[in-house]
Amino acid sequence: MYDFVVVGVGPPGARFARRAAEAGYDVLALEKGTIGEPLACSGHVSTDIWEFTGEGAREDLFQNEIYGARFHVGGPGSDAYPFYKDAVASNVIDRVGLDRHLAELAREAGADVRENHTVTGVTERHDRVEIVASGPDGRLEVEAKMVAGCDGPRSRVRDELGLPQPDEFLHGVLAFSEEDDHQDFVDVHLTPPTFFAWRIPRGEAGVEYGLAAPPGVQVTKHFEELIDGYEIDVSHRCSGAIPVGPPDRVTSRRAFLIGDAAAQTKPFTGGGILYSMTSADHAAREIDPDRPTTLAAYERAWRDDLAREQRLGHWIRRAYSLPEPVQRLGLGALSGEIGVHMDRPTSLVSPTHLKAMLSRLRG
Ligand SMILES: Cc1cc2nc3c(=O)[nH]c(=O)nc-3n(C[C@H](O)[C@H](O)[C@H](O)COP(=O)(O)OP(=O)(O)OC[C@H]3O[C@@H](n4cnc5c(N)ncnc54)[C@H](O)[C@@H]3O)c2cc1C
Repeated sequence: MYDFVVVGVGPPGARFARRAAEAGYDVLALEKGTIGEPLACSGHVSTDIWEFTGEGAREDLFQNEIYGARFHVGGPGSDAYPFYKDAVASNVIDRVGLDRHLAELAREAGADVRENHTVTGVTERHDRVEIVASGPDGRLEVEAKMVAGCDGPRSRVRDELGLPQPDEFLHGVLAFSEEDDHQDFVDVHLTPPTFFAWRIPRGEAGVEYGLAAPPGVQVTKHFEELIDGYEIDVSHRCSGAIPVGPPDRVTSRRAFLIGDAAAQTKPFTGGGILYSMTSADHAAREIDPDRPTTLAAYERAWRDDLAREQRLGHWIRRAYSLPEPVQRLGLGALSGEIGVHMDRPTSLVSPTHLKAMLSRLRG
């Protein structure tokens, strides 16, 4: 019997597997495909990412550094309202490489990480969880004291155990053009209803164009308009779901969800890499596989840390739906240097941000 079976080896699955193995637990982690593939993520993250990686990661994964974002109410060519920091705000990284790196760290810590194993069944019993997977050698049946559902937005574990769904799923699309671009600003276009489109310079890895929006929005039409507006050719199109708004419960009797399965994402950007790994650390710290009551401590810990950020993130997202003249006014009034941490909207009231705003008023 394993202490933990981890389903899905994205950032939170790998991070939890690593931390639990380091704590001396017997961990099996099952990934349905090849780790990191297929890509459906921009890999645009705060520099905090390097606190979760191991030796040599930055040299291998880093693509570009970003100081700020130019907001546009319209498409390419429309007025830009820049928001920036006086230091590097974020990095653009190789997301496929990140997943492989994190999985390797889990293996080194002693977790048994297996690719090409799709979990098809999860049944909770009084004293254990039974997990069924299909792999290269056929059907695999294992037992664990607990199961971690790290299997993404359309989580099988969540469905098998009847856990509630996230509030909403956005549809995100991406494509790439090949020119080198070392600019240190991303562009954000508030053109699709209730969310946005983006352009991310990835250094020598080309330029990424993307867009996310809720169901009902004509994502393809808005994306084509973005590409046409920039007058470029793109290839390697890909897409994925972005869960927003965590359900009231992400734990059951002997199971818990981490990452997109639990909608541990930023409501105003859809980003989930940092929140998911932060939550994985809370899970590894709080959950004892021999004491199911500790699952409540995990629910508390991740919500204590992130719920306020997510609430404020929802309010920020509302600004994407304001009438255009109001958006122009607001962006015009607020643009300039800021001191906000991209993962922590509550830093809007931080001394660093207030100082930046004040010095602008004086200037
Ligand atoms: C278009 C787009 C752009 C994004 N850009 C950013 C960004 O710039 N920055 C950021 O922070 N976040 C971004 N995100 C969000 C980010 O990708 C997710 O929050 C993050 O990947 C969450 O990790 P996860 O492991 O929970 O889910 P996933 O990355 O989806 O990983 C889940 C894993 O579980 C595996 N799995 C699924 N079902 C099973 C099963 N039955 N058995 C075994 N394995 C299974 C999958 O194969 C996968 O490897 C973006 C998302 C999209 C869609």
